[in-house]
Amino acid sequence: MESNLDDVRKDVISCTRCELSKSRTNAVPGTGQIETGIVFIGEAPGRNEDLQGEPFVGAAGKILSEALAYAGFSREDVYITNVVKCRPPDNRRPNKQEIDSCGIYLKKELEIIKPKMICILGNTAFGSLLGGGEITKNRGKVIKRDGQLYFVTVHPAAIIYNQELRQVIKDDLKALHDILDKIKKGIKIEINE
Ligand code: SF4
Repeated sequence: MESNLDDVRKDVISCTRCELSKSRTNAVPGTGQIETGIVFIGEAPGRNEDLQGEPFVGAAGKILSEALAYAGFSREDVYITNVVKCRPPDNRRPNKQEIDSCGIYLKKELEIIKPKMICILGNTAFGSLLGGGEITKNRGKVIKRDGQLYFVTVHPAAIIYNQELRQVIKDDLKALHDILDKIKKGIKIEINE
C-alpha cells in the first residue's frame, strides 16, 4: 500500500532508528501545504521545535516566516521539514549516521509531494541533498539534479549569529518567488546543472 504524509508523520513520531530518539522530547515531522509543490528543508529541530514537535517555531522559525512574508510567500502555502527530525543535543550538527538513518523519511516526503522546487536552507541540507560543501558559491541559484529543481540559501539560524544575513535570506527568497513566477508563466530561467 502506498504511504502518505500522515503515515510518515506517525512513523517519525515513534521512530527509534537512531540515538537522537533517546534525548529528544518530541520528534518533529515536516508540516505544511503540499499542493503548491514548494518544499523548504532545514537541518534539524532546535530547542523550541523539540518542545513543541513542530518545525521552525523558535527564533530561526521567526526569521524564516519574516523572510517568506517579505518575499511574497504565505508560510501556510509551503511545506517545511528538516533533514533530521529529532533535535541533536546542544543543537550540534547531526552526524552522518543520524542523517543517513533519518533519510528514509525525507525521501518518502519528497516521493509523496513530488516538489516543483526544493529550497535548501543551509549547509547540512545542501550537503545531504546535493553533496555540496560550502553554500556561499551556490546561494541564490537554481540547481537541477536528476530532474529535480533546487534553490539554495542560508539557514535562518545563521542569521541569529550574523545579522548581515537577515537581508540576504529575504532577497534570496524574493528571487525564488520571482523564479517560481517565471516558471508558472513559462518564462525561461537560469538553471545550473
Ligand atoms: S532523527 Fe530521524 S532516524 Fe533518528 S530517531 Fe529521530 S526520526 Fe528516527
